[in-house]
Amino acid sequence: MTERLFNFSAGPAILPEPVLQSAQSALWAFEDSGIGILEHSHRGALFSKVIEETEANCRKLAGISDDYEVLFLQGGASTQFFMIPMSWLGEGKTASYVNTGTWSNKAIKEAKLYGDVHVAASSEDKNFSYLPTEAEIQWPAGAAYAHYTSNNTIAGTQFAGTPTVPEGVPLICDASSDIFSKPIDVGAHGMIYAGAQKNLGPSGLALVIVRKDMVETAKQELPSMLQYRVHAKTGSCFNTPPTFGIYIMGEVFKWILEQGGLDAMAKLNESKAAILYDYLDESAMFRGTARESDRSLMNIAFRATSEELEAQFIKEATAAGLPGLKGHRSVGGMRASTYNAFPAKGVTFLVDFMKSFENKNK
Ligand SMILES: *Cc1c(COP(=O)(O)O)cnc(C)c1O
Repeated sequence: MTERLFNFSAGPAILPEPVLQSAQSALWAFEDSGIGILEHSHRGALFSKVIEETEANCRKLAGISDDYEVLFLQGGASTQFFMIPMSWLGEGKTASYVNTGTWSNKAIKEAKLYGDVHVAASSEDKNFSYLPTEAEIQWPAGAAYAHYTSNNTIAGTQFAGTPTVPEGVPLICDASSDIFSKPIDVGAHGMIYAGAQKNLGPSGLALVIVRKDMVETAKQELPSMLQYRVHAKTGSCFNTPPTFGIYIMGEVFKWILEQGGLDAMAKLNESKAAILYDYLDESAMFRGTARESDRSLMNIAFRATSEELEAQFIKEATAAGLPGLKGHRSVGGMRASTYNAFPAKGVTFLVDFMKSFENKNK
């Protein structure tokens, strides 16, 4: 087998190696069935077991009660950007959003197609390098829902806890880039959704955890595929679901459970990120771009003293077997994505490389 690199890509991103290894054999013949996982009917007994187990392990991991549906939907997180306002916004209703980055902005843009949007707070004034504090967020009472992005993949900021919203307003979280990287208070949310390709599996698939009473109140005059109700009633099998993605997500859930669950993930992610942030704080060449109190444990954005050095650094790092470090074009510089599956030794390898780069280019 050819060697695998420490892949710092923001998404699609690194997956746990045991998951990839079991997928290799499942692709050829799944559980001694003589048929590969890609080739099994979504109505057959073997796949039914996969989807049931995946849902059960998801519930177990995050402590999801029976008040919630767990759905596996298509179209990534971006489809949720419009399915949400389509379902719960409309004439005479307002939805509130916290604008903390490129993805929040995109969610807001879609919501505006369906009704009034109130921006409860924004950190756009400083290129999203910080998060508004609880006191700075003005959630209006009586909103159809309140939406926030728990981890801002591009700017590298992350909410430490769950924002508090007015009584009766369902809180909706885009958790695409930090889902299951630490414990999550599901009960504080009306809905949590995530594109799979950062922490959970392949792109194109979205995990949606939504409270049953919200599914009930969602608008019904919509195409079947765009109704949570339809997917909930059919166990995410209204049409042919992304079977391979669901299988991989299930394997990722098993892997997280084997690692000790979400508490263990949090510890691991904290210690991994600390290796890089500690160095950024002492380096004379590199510095983190996010406000210290708002730093993401998943996407670590940093700059060097000049753009020339940054270009040289990215080029040399890539050549040294550290791909995926180029920052998003809206921020520039570098970004190291250290999702659940990213190994600690890869972060140490990066920091050693940065130290020697700094020494050589003093
Ligand atoms: C990647 C990402 C998205 C977009 O996900 P798609 O699956 O490509 O639609 C949305 N929100 C956040 C926070 C992301 O990181």
